[in-house]
Amino acid sequence: MKKSVKILSVVLALVIVLGCFAACGGDKGETKTTLVMATNAAFPPYEYVEGGEFVGIDVEIANAIANKLGMELEIKDVDFGAIIGGVQSGKFDMGMAGMTVTEDRLKDVNFSDSYAKGVQVVIVKDGGTIASLDDVAGKKIGVQTNTTGDIYASGDFGEENVVKYENGALAVEALKSGKVDCVIIDNEPAKAYVAANEGLKILETEYVEEDYAICFAKENTELQEKVNAALKELIADGSVKNVVDKYIPSK
Ligand code: GLN
Repeated sequence: MKKSVKILSVVLALVIVLGCFAACGGDKGETKTTLVMATNAAFPPYEYVEGGEFVGIDVEIANAIANKLGMELEIKDVDFGAIIGGVQSGKFDMGMAGMTVTEDRLKDVNFSDSYAKGVQVVIVKDGGTIASLDDVAGKKIGVQTNTTGDIYASGDFGEENVVKYENGALAVEALKSGKVDCVIIDNEPAKAYVAANEGLKILETEYVEEDYAICFAKENTELQEKVNAALKELIADGSVKNVVDKYIPSK
């Protein structure tokens, strides 16, 4: 009898202790401590893999935001086209991938303030037949699926002329091997690809100017506001500019 009373009190004590862990674990009940960011890490200098680690402008800004919020950043590397759906379904807390704010995307997700500007440019082979945007008409254009480069090129030059690749690196490979005549992509990744590959250049004519921002599920305005407040501070105190200058020294 005595023994079972003892066991019962041990069990009770355990229940109380575990119960407290469950109740007091998160700092505000439901508050998560991990900030899950979806990206496509083939987009230098915004996000790429170096020495097995995610690096780049977005990665550093996201880490600084997570720091300010007392959260730990977890990065998921997915296809660019899977980011918005995953954010909508709650699989990811936010998407940060040099992502352009567009009217269409605003129907599906909310965006933070913009933290950087992008420009769509055209990469061609040195000595090729494309010298200006006009020459692109009727040529085969390589793009990254679901990006604004894809959307604008398909709209302006016809879907039948657009060849879609999973990421920019594959589109550039296709240009090098002659499968496409040019690649339409954001300017900074374009510079990085041209620097890393012989015989390519960027046309001087800029195609479309855009704003990059972080996306959130429509209903997750609480996180959107918190991240935006942190981002505002990081823009105001020069941290964002420092990160951009580190990766894009000429700016
Ligand atoms: N800025 C472009 C877009 O939002 C490309 C982004 C990317 O490829 N990571 O569609």
